[in-house]
Amino acid sequence: MALSVQAVRGMNDLLPEDTALWQQVEKVMRETVASFGYSEVRMPLLEKTNLFCRAIGEVTDVVEKEMYTFEDRSGESLSLRPEGTAGCVRCCLEHNLIYNQEQRLWYMGPMFRHERPQKGRYRQFHQLGVEVFGLNGPDIDAEIIMLSHLLWQKFGIADDLTLQLNTLGSNAERQAYRDSLVKFLEGHFEELDEDSKRRLYTNPLRVLDSKDERVGEILKDAPKLMDFLGEESLNHFNKLKALLEAAGIKYEINPRLVRGLDYYNLTVFEWVTTALGAQGTVCGGGRYDGLVAELGGSPTPAVGFGLGMERLVLLLSTLGKIKAAPACDVYIVGAGEGVEIAQARTAMELRKALPHVKITNHCGGGNFKKQFKRADKVGARAAVIIGESELANGTLTIKDLRNKDSEQQTVPVSGAAAVIAKILAQ
Ligand code: ATP
Ligand code: MG
Repeated sequence: MALSVQAVRGMNDLLPEDTALWQQVEKVMRETVASFGYSEVRMPLLEKTNLFCRAIGEVTDVVEKEMYTFEDRSGESLSLRPEGTAGCVRCCLEHNLIYNQEQRLWYMGPMFRHERPQKGRYRQFHQLGVEVFGLNGPDIDAEIIMLSHLLWQKFGIADDLTLQLNTLGSNAERQAYRDSLVKFLEGHFEELDEDSKRRLYTNPLRVLDSKDERVGEILKDAPKLMDFLGEESLNHFNKLKALLEAAGIKYEINPRLVRGLDYYNLTVFEWVTTALGAQGTVCGGGRYDGLVAELGGSPTPAVGFGLGMERLVLLLSTLGKIKAAPACDVYIVGAGEGVEIAQARTAMELRKALPHVKITNHCGGGNFKKQFKRADKVGARAAVIIGESELANGTLTIKDLRNKDSEQQTVPVSGAAAVIAKILAQ
């Protein structure tokens, strides 16, 4: 049967088997950011289009080609957020969160980009974002990298991700470098691919990011940004490297790492994996000291990262580091006159006694065989059985469904929770 209405291409439903994984991932993330003393902010999914044009840059891929932009009913141009940093800065300015004070913030939620959907690249995807305002030293750059590293450790994938590190220097240093890079690339203009030709005059640093092999060859002889850095920028970079080394975090310097958004300066980094094919960047970030002033605030140093949650979940599944837990631990079955009332009451009492246990009460009747089949299907580890004799004697029978040889136990209602807890603890 052809469905007449389908989801928008590149926008995924998360089904029960997916949300079971996502919830585990989100829990670890929430615990980790909290353990670093970061606070959550929640921004709207829609912002005025102008915010992204100003923050991200008119000639970036994101603003030029990828935004979902439309006029609302009052004729105002709005865009679904393609990333979280711009909205987070807007929020902080609007509520005066960063005037003369530090903030360590995080958010989690959907982002929207009109890209070509493929594995690891979607039109609605989710990010964990971390943003810190008011601190300008390499220590805080190191802190957010350590935060991401702790996440990898908790997920057991620290060895599967490589930290790539670069510095973009100050605006003035980057400008001088840009001029020299443009001059160099002009000498190879005819050899460049179309994208790089276009970017040469709009956003030349992005040429460094080109995936084109021939461009890659040409770039081997290109001037290096590192050679244009002054003492201050070099110091910042060297201290960051020392801090990472002290924390036992390995890194690779990637002089071609420039990141896609205009607002970065000094530190930029990405965590990449080879296990996901072309979409190997799981997390990327850096310093954006100019953005707050750009959006009308007083100059405020800032640093942050965005972590692609689809790519992380994909990586964890690919590496077999995560398994969906069943939606049910204990299944209550029953047969006999008036058993529905006993079942419902037992389920409620057990839920109160065992608040972290997932308890499903069988609804719809049927014989025991059919009900046990259902219990198996939902992955229950224990069954509570209420039959004629249990109803008559005020008892419950508990069966260990994993350990089929073990004896089932009939106990007074008040003793059931303890028996169940013991089975689940095995
Ligand atoms: P890419 O080079 O893969 O397009 P990006 O530089 O555009 O990434 P950022 O804007 O830095 O990505 O976003 C941070 C992270 O969000 C990325 O590292 C990636 O994990 C994830 N991400 C970005 N775009 C998408 C997308 N379309 N679908 C899924 N995840 C995405
Ligand atoms: Mg992109």
